[in-house]
Amino acid sequence: MLAAKTSPEVTAAAKPLVSITNVQKTYFTRQAPVQAVASTSVDVARGEFVSLLGPSGCGKSTLLMMIAGLEQPTGGSISLAGSEVREPRRDIGIIFQDATLLPWKSALDNVLFPVRILRLPIEPYRRRARELLAMVGLSDFENKKPSQLSGGMRQRVAICRALIHDPDILLMDEPFSALDAITRDQMNVALSEILETHKKTVIFVTHSIREAAFLSDRVVVMGGRPSTIMLDMKMPFERPRRFEIEETPEFVAVCRKLRLTIEQAHTGVPSQIPAAKQRGVVE
Ligand code: ADP
Ligand code: MG
Repeated sequence: MLAAKTSPEVTAAAKPLVSITNVQKTYFTRQAPVQAVASTSVDVARGEFVSLLGPSGCGKSTLLMMIAGLEQPTGGSISLAGSEVREPRRDIGIIFQDATLLPWKSALDNVLFPVRILRLPIEPYRRRARELLAMVGLSDFENKKPSQLSGGMRQRVAICRALIHDPDILLMDEPFSALDAITRDQMNVALSEILETHKKTVIFVTHSIREAAFLSDRVVVMGGRPSTIMLDMKMPFERPRRFEIEETPEFVAVCRKLRLTIEQAHTGVPSQIPAAKQRGVVE
């Protein structure tokens, strides 16, 4: 008897959207080679929000740039939607720490910049750009230049620019770490709200434990020398999330677990925390 065939839809749904398999990266410099990422494997499902968390220099940006096709792995492979990443692609939107807006262009024209680069028709996208700016509360600022906007506003424009061509995947490299603490908290909530409307697969690089725990479905801790994945942990908080969750014992316990993993990756031993206080940690 013939085995039942799985329908193509079922197979596609079960496959991860981003598949990172035994990826390694060594930078060959004039001095000694730098092994930035040791063999690393991680999958990200469609619609998932995954943070890469770890201290400075542990290879987070390197991994993100390889996913974006802006750096080539020296070993292993990365595929997006089943095809191997070999160069920058259209199905990705990237947001960096600095908004990197064009200073002579208005907020609206900055959002439209990828549309011009990709030679898409401007008019329908102008409407979409205005809708995106309205969504992040910048309707009244569409004609302002970046120098007339605050840091948080510039980063909102950068988010709209990354979303304008409706990519499947958003890659974000410490997008809020240059902002003050209050603006950063506001941006975390704003990003959660944006993603409720525009469902995306997100890979988010941060060195903030709290930010990773608040935003993510999964947090992947990177560390060790050379760096690889130390922990891959599901965040057990329901959505939509509001600030109040940060005060719950469950959230505090998750953050503690993440911090201990990071410390262990660096020193080989976690710092001394009484066992009783570690209870409630969610694996
Ligand atoms: P993170 O984003 O976690 O701070 P990076 O990916 O930027 O880490 O860097 C990881 C390691 O690779 C660091 O030791 C860094 O100095 C090194 N590195 C990053 N980019 C380059 C490069 N272009 N050439 C050489 N070494 C690099
Ligand atoms: Mg970095």
